[in-house]
Amino acid sequence: MKKLEGGCLCESVRYHISATPFAAEYCHCRMCKKVSGAPVASWMDFKIAQVTWKKRKPVEYQSSENVLRGFCPTCGSSLSFRDTEHPEYITLTIASLDEPNLVKPTYHIYTASQLKWLNIDDECKRFTAGPVKSPN
Ligand SMILES: [Zn+2]
Ligand SMILES: [Zn+2]
Repeated sequence: MKKLEGGCLCESVRYHISATPFAAEYCHCRMCKKVSGAPVASWMDFKIAQVTWKKRKPVEYQSSENVLRGFCPTCGSSLSFRDTEHPEYITLTIASLDEPNLVKPTYHIYTASQLKWLNIDDECKRFTAGPVKSPN
């Protein structure tokens, strides 16, 4: 696999990743819709040591008790998700990659909140609620 690099729209926040993600998923929850402004979010999961921020880091907004959502303070691009109960992991938006086709989500979570008009015809597993992640 090619090296994974990405960042925000204005390029003031950039990241490099030294590994392939241990999981990648679509999230249909309400908070991901709000934070991304999109009908579904796509996320990829890493160990935090595998991700290097260049230039500056995202600013984090505490969206719930244990969740920090990172964004660029200049252009607002949604970049990251961290669960403070699992500080060894970080999740990044697949769409912020320079080449988003390099990472393909393999399952859906929170499909109970999937928009009725959004039709995704794939073979991926679907979970009506939260994630089932396990690193290799
Ligand atoms: Zn930016
Ligand atoms: Zn979500």
